Amino acid sequence: MSEGTGLMIQADRLWNDLMTLGKIGKGKDGGVTRTSFDSEDIKARKFLLQLLKDADLDPYMDEAGNIFGQIHGKNPNLPAILIGSHIDTVHSGGRFDGAMGVLMGVEVLRSIKEKGIQPERTVKVVSFTDEEGARFDYAFVGSTALSGAISSDQLQKDLATALDQEGFSYLEAMKRASMEGGYFSRINPEELGKACVRKAEIKAYIEVHIEQGKVLESRDLAVGVVSGISGGHWAEVTITGEAGHAGTIGMLERKDALTAVGECLLAIEKIARDSGGSVATVGKVAVKPGSGNVIPGRVDFTLDVRDISDERRELTVKKINEALREISADRGVDCEIRPFQFIASVMSSPLVVEAIKEAFIELDYPICELPSGAAHDAMVMGGITEIGMIFVRSRGGISHHPDEWSSFEDVALGCEVLYHTTMKLL
Ligand SMILES: [Zn+2]
Repeated sequence: MSEGTGLMIQADRLWNDLMTLGKIGKGKDGGVTRTSFDSEDIKARKFLLQLLKDADLDPYMDEAGNIFGQIHGKNPNLPAILIGSHIDTVHSGGRFDGAMGVLMGVEVLRSIKEKGIQPERTVKVVSFTDEEGARFDYAFVGSTALSGAISSDQLQKDLATALDQEGFSYLEAMKRASMEGGYFSRINPEELGKACVRKAEIKAYIEVHIEQGKVLESRDLAVGVVSGISGGHWAEVTITGEAGHAGTIGMLERKDALTAVGECLLAIEKIARDSGGSVATVGKVAVKPGSGNVIPGRVDFTLDVRDISDERRELTVKKINEALREISADRGVDCEIRPFQFIASVMSSPLVVEAIKEAFIELDYPICELPSGAAHDAMVMGGITEIGMIFVRSRGGISHHPDEWSSFEDVALGCEVLYHTTMKLL
């Protein structure tokens, strides 16, 4: 036990790392921007590597740019415990999303090492490449490569066509990062298959993350255990009407694509509200031709539907699709719905959930089980190993924003739960 605090981990040290990492990529509005392989992400990667090196945690990077630190187990043939999250952010995001989980992993490994404990099995911390997908609109790159969720050939093809706003491809960005040398030299988008691990190599994956919701806050609790992660259904919708002069075409002769979309949006909201659990979001709308004096002829928008119940989510999507077609038919506009991604919900593994609950009991803290509405690397890792997540209370439920905040005490307790959970699984 470390002096005075009664904790197995050193909360001050963890907090200090968190605040230091939070300065990398910090903009004028206080938000943090570290998108995959941009200059700030590279700086953050170097910071993390140095931290791992200083703690003697034998760091390395894999072909996908995932960063690892590790304590080698007495028996290297036993499947390892993996603790992780990500250090990339959205544009002008917060200091806690992702970074907290990675740094807690570092703190737990450091604490184990300092106590002179050599575990039977290897324990690793991982910082996954690009969880957010903020730069190239392509997320979960590192965990996808590691778990082999899609074939390395397909992933490489996807990365060749994923472009950032300057038209720079993911593949090029990775190649450029590899030229940083040292640990970075191993990054190789043409050898992503080498980053893939076998099922037998990992016993469990644990991730601590900020809740990004208000459940813990409303129950006045600092930390909770995640029951499962909501899957999602994503689609692009195009409504095509007729563009025309805003002054010469009468209101009854119009096929205004945007007013049709207005009605669609309200229908989507109502269907999700009445579903009993689904959430639906239209976050991106593009109006064409997009001119003040022209009736909108075409509108493209995105549709994001999530639910912990796969069945209920698909029912919500079905109802939304029917409503969009009906509204479009009534208004004489065309409606095209193109689903482009579907991810099933992933339930946490009893093995990890039980270990987390035992940690709560040991720490004499009430157990609160809650689902995750946001996707995480743990969801992707669920395809290859036992997974579990610990949530730390987010002030006001705010995330992906400069105001994202979790208190020192909450972060300390979250890391303590992680330490105890890890020790149980080792
Ligand atoms: Zn995150």
